[in-house]
Amino acid sequence: MDDCIFCRIAAGEAPAELVYSDEQTIAFMDINPATKGHALVIPRTHRKDLLEVEEEELAAVVRTARRLAKRALERLGADGVNLLNSCGTAAWQTVFHFHVHVIPRYNDDPLRLPWLPKPGEPAEIAAAAAALRS
Ligand code: 5GP
Ligand code: ZN
Repeated sequence: MDDCIFCRIAAGEAPAELVYSDEQTIAFMDINPATKGHALVIPRTHRKDLLEVEEEELAAVVRTARRLAKRALERLGADGVNLLNSCGTAAWQTVFHFHVHVIPRYNDDPLRLPWLPKPGEPAEIAAAAAALRS
């Protein structure tokens, strides 16, 4: 995928602050960090999104993400970590090479939940559950 910026980073053809690499994955710093230490983990192989990534690659990406989460806690003094994946434009995906955000969280950081938690309509919840179950 010549026009994919993450493929170009994986190939060493575009610059990035690499922080980890193995046979199946690489991780590098996000150029628009949400917090200090915000990194992205990708499979080396181009996969558009969560639905296209092979299960084994997905497992490898999650392993790498957890490794970086631990480093954020131990080396950056993070108080917590969010792992985030956006699948599809409606879900905010902007780069269409599957990636997991590793976002270190600090007690005093400015990030907030993007929704307001409030009780849902039980019938709607049950209907969605039925659709997901069948
Ligand atoms: P998405 O919006 O698809 O979940 O996440 C894409 C992320 O990639 C964004 O957080 C954005 O800042 C980051 N990003 C986009 N282009 C580049 C780039 O060229 N280099 C790096 N390091 N990050 C990028
Ligand atoms: Zn790609």
